[in-house]
Amino acid sequence: MKNFRGYQVTREYGPIPGSNKFHTGIDLVKSHKAPIQAFTSGEVLYAGEGKDGTGFGGYGNVVLLVDKNNRGQLYAHLDSVKVTKGQHVKPESIVGYQGETGYTTGSHLHFEVRKVAESSPPYGWRADRENNCLNPTKYLQNYNSGDQNKKLTLRNGNVGEEVEKIQQKLVSLGYSLPKYGIDGRFGDETEAAVRIFQSDQNITVDGIVGPVTHESLDKAIADQTIPYPGSTFSRGSTGENVRRIQRIVNTRVDGIYGPKTETAVKKFQSNHNLLVDGIVGPNTWKVLF
Ligand SMILES: [Zn+2]
Repeated sequence: MKNFRGYQVTREYGPIPGSNKFHTGIDLVKSHKAPIQAFTSGEVLYAGEGKDGTGFGGYGNVVLLVDKNNRGQLYAHLDSVKVTKGQHVKPESIVGYQGETGYTTGSHLHFEVRKVAESSPPYGWRADRENNCLNPTKYLQNYNSGDQNKKLTLRNGNVGEEVEKIQQKLVSLGYSLPKYGIDGRFGDETEAAVRIFQSDQNITVDGIVGPVTHESLDKAIADQTIPYPGSTFSRGSTGENVRRIQRIVNTRVDGIYGPKTETAVKKFQSNHNLLVDGIVGPNTWKVLF
């Protein structure tokens, strides 16, 4: 489990076997007094001894963070705390040290995610514990995958899969990359294509694919209507337009109009009340694009 790297999980979140109790967090062990690092960024709502009746009774020394989702992340049973109220912490900054303060049978970190983050008692604690705490493992998994889904800003010099996706979009919108093609390298040719696209879209022309350009690309792809190229496509046709057809009729995209593409086109024609001849002429094209 990547999020809890370096820890041994000694008790999972969930019902405690052989009892009617529910474990509202996850128990993690490094070693006694090992530094405990924040799993995400956040702001400290409370740091210090958890007193009875405040929502922290039995938790020992605690650090409560509010994160970007307004959830309360509780780091409990700490030997000592290393942050103070109001402090902003970054992922992996040390919030305290593993300990055995409060109600515990040994040194460990109890990490709990409270649905509500509060800056005063009861600090998000609710009598219905089970429905007011989240599974920390799942929570952190989604927390981080959410970040990954945010699109990266791409510019000249970048390489990789994300660049390849941008190039694919540009090419399918008709912004060709004649020299290097879809090669996953953001060079001058890709930058030039991005600039033309930006100019066509009336957005800032800087050759950089940031949030606005990402969105415009996705929108352009969604709205795409491609004028009929003027000649039919059938067995033996090749090229980018064949790829476009293949993407829509749901067959292998290799740019070669073979028997499988023909069959897929016939199926598409039949489903759309078109003349079923396996040839993409103006009528089929209009329905396709
Ligand atoms: Zn625990």
